[in-house]
Amino acid sequence: MLGRRVGVLAVVAALAGAGLTVVRVHAQQQPADQVVHLLQELTDAVAPSGFEGPVRDILRREWQGLLTNIHTDGIGNLFGTLPGPASSPRVLIMAHMDEVGFLVRYIDPDGFIFFNNVGGYIDQSVLTQRMTILTPKGPVTGYTGFKSGHIVSAEERSRLVHLQDMFIDVGAKSRAEAEAMGIRPGLPITYGTQFTVLNGTHRYLAKAFDDRVGLAAATEALRQLKSLPHPNTVEMAATVQEENGLRGAAVVQASTHPDIVINLEIGIAGDFPLLTSPKLSQERLGLGPGIFVFDSSMIPNNTFVDWITQTAQAHQIPYQFESVGGYGEDGSELQRSGTGIPAINIGVPTRYGHSQSSVIDRSDFDNTVKLVVQMVQGLSAEQIKKITAF
Ligand SMILES: [Zn+2]
Repeated sequence: MLGRRVGVLAVVAALAGAGLTVVRVHAQQQPADQVVHLLQELTDAVAPSGFEGPVRDILRREWQGLLTNIHTDGIGNLFGTLPGPASSPRVLIMAHMDEVGFLVRYIDPDGFIFFNNVGGYIDQSVLTQRMTILTPKGPVTGYTGFKSGHIVSAEERSRLVHLQDMFIDVGAKSRAEAEAMGIRPGLPITYGTQFTVLNGTHRYLAKAFDDRVGLAAATEALRQLKSLPHPNTVEMAATVQEENGLRGAAVVQASTHPDIVINLEIGIAGDFPLLTSPKLSQERLGLGPGIFVFDSSMIPNNTFVDWITQTAQAHQIPYQFESVGGYGEDGSELQRSGTGIPAINIGVPTRYGHSQSSVIDRSDFDNTVKLVVQMVQGLSAEQIKKITAF
């Protein structure tokens, strides 16, 4: 879809411990469509909480030859290791595989599908949408129907339809016909959307950027770190069931024993009509990764936050601060695990989260990757000791 692009990557590797700074600049053939293809495949995958298999399969393939010790745990989290000069310190990069979605609740006698939500939605955003139900026989397309505009009363036009009253029309005339398509209670449903590059811009439209953009950014950062010096071993965790209460992240510490954690997520962009108050959401597309200084699940280590901003400034990487009350993330589960671990949440600014589609800007993705690469290169044992000195 997009043409190839030659990217020049300036890499500044700070050699920790010796206080030396080695500047290496090398040109790198970086096809733009490698990232686009990965984002497309990851966001089009139907994988709400508890049904992360399709995303796990994509990551297993991407991590082959890149990471060692690729394995899963008892809940379905996927792990891999990028070894460094020693097994310690251990830097954990984390992002979640699941997306907000729905599960089949009930098939009525006429073949209409009722559903529960997994993760937080605004009900208005669910009505009159194409849906995909993933069955053992393959994907089934449907539609969350509503009355024709011709017969909606004046009162009904502004009334909210609650999610539990909505249904999906899959074309079946009976429950038996719906079942013959492979549908049963408990199967996953997502919006039936497709990844789109928006009209020749560097902005992308897709469902499930939350949190496939985090997984893609982590994977691209690991690809670059593979050929760069880093004074640590990097553990990668792709978690399950984040949208269902951070459940996968709750057991990640047991498998990775990290000394410090970088969680990658979406940020909450507020730069569009209807939401113009920076008091609610201050991130803007194109201004760089969002460093979360507060969310409803975590207040990060302030020394870590200051070190991250200094690292970004030293490498001319733009960044924004993010502070959102109604937002929880996996990093918080690690922060309060073991004997307490410094963790940060970094978000790729995203418009319209937890709805049918979201929009991101490619420059924010690239700058998030750059920031993660620089952070990993700087997180020596000595630096982590400074961050955890209270
Ligand atoms: Zn998320």
